[in-house]
Amino acid sequence: MIKANDKNLSSWIPVPENSDFPIQNIPFGVFKAKDGNIGVATRIGDTVIDLFKVGQLDYFSIDAAVFNSDKLNKLMRLGKQATRKLRDEISAVFNTENQEAKNNSALKETFYNINEVEMLMPIEVGDYTDFYSSEQHAYNVGCMFRDPNNALLPNWKHIPVGYHGRASSIIASGVPIHRPKGQQKPNDNEPPVFGPCKLLDFELEVAFITYDGKPLGESISTKEADDYIFGMCLFNDWSARDIQKWEYVPLGPFLAKNFASSMSPWIVTLDALEPFRTESTVQDPEVFDYLKFEGNKNIDINLQVAIQPEGTDEAVVSNSNYKYMYWNMNQQLAHHTINGCNIKAGDMMASGTISGNDESAYGSMLEISWKGTKSVTMADGTERKFIADNDTVIMRGHSEKDGVRVGFGEVVTKVLPAK
Ligand code: MN
Repeated sequence: MIKANDKNLSSWIPVPENSDFPIQNIPFGVFKAKDGNIGVATRIGDTVIDLFKVGQLDYFSIDAAVFNSDKLNKLMRLGKQATRKLRDEISAVFNTENQEAKNNSALKETFYNINEVEMLMPIEVGDYTDFYSSEQHAYNVGCMFRDPNNALLPNWKHIPVGYHGRASSIIASGVPIHRPKGQQKPNDNEPPVFGPCKLLDFELEVAFITYDGKPLGESISTKEADDYIFGMCLFNDWSARDIQKWEYVPLGPFLAKNFASSMSPWIVTLDALEPFRTESTVQDPEVFDYLKFEGNKNIDINLQVAIQPEGTDEAVVSNSNYKYMYWNMNQQLAHHTINGCNIKAGDMMASGTISGNDESAYGSMLEISWKGTKSVTMADGTERKFIADNDTVIMRGHSEKDGVRVGFGEVVTKVLPAK
């Protein structure tokens, strides 16, 4: 039992109703205040708490210097036991029962309102891997581009399929992107063309961020995997479908994927998500021993995508859930390291597009528009098959159980015209 997860805890910091950030969350992020102060923070309700300043008041057992940074990597390098203890210590400071802390005016000097700060890229991403672990998504793509009778390729139920993506273009929520340019081949019988991508898409994903792993040559088992996962964020893995279709043979995704991926700013720890564990679908055929696991390893996280054209309200286009994953994080990490591949603090591994069983839960416009054959209507009456210039894509995610809601907030990205 993790102390900070106690559902009966409350904070002396106000928490608005339906907030993703009760005292049971205690996520980690990096803020920039208007006075230029940058540092590691946590959040309770709408209050962003400067952990370097709290640490200087001697509330934590670890050296406050770890928070005097524009990234979380130093903190992650301390490992799971240290961050678990830190979360318990933060919880104790801001717990309603703590009269000393409540009356300590110096603690209030560590507070900012969320609207007064800018949330920055929270981690220095080392390596980025993208999996393809939602069965319904893989099935839908297989139906569209191959054959409904053979939608899943023969390896899919034996291997958590993935590829190595690009870390340098992972960006924080709020940073706009430009529509990418590239080669496309819209007509099979004509030569390729060059220009701005016409089929720009989001991918609704969740990513996990790792602690330092084992030395090169060692593997992490499904049983050990939880100890190597720091936390999770929402992840919009931008995709240029027309560029992807022409370039992906035979080596897989390249320029259609590496122009940008957007992440939510608060890393919610795996510890905070433990109460929301849920069972997975039975895997058939039986997997190899190194992919077998015990206990509930999926997590019930409600996910939502909305599109907001400029000057109008948003329209929700998908309501999915992380629990639909066929392969869980423990299996992904065990597979990633079974050949001896090492991992480092700050590596990111994304789930792949998460689609549920019906079209209200599809995680990409490719599926929602079924390859551009159907459109969705926006609040201003315009229609979308893919993402238009000046649209803003918003993803949200939260878990809820026994009256406790732990969430990620949002990842928000505006698409600007091609440069
Ligand atoms: Mn992806």
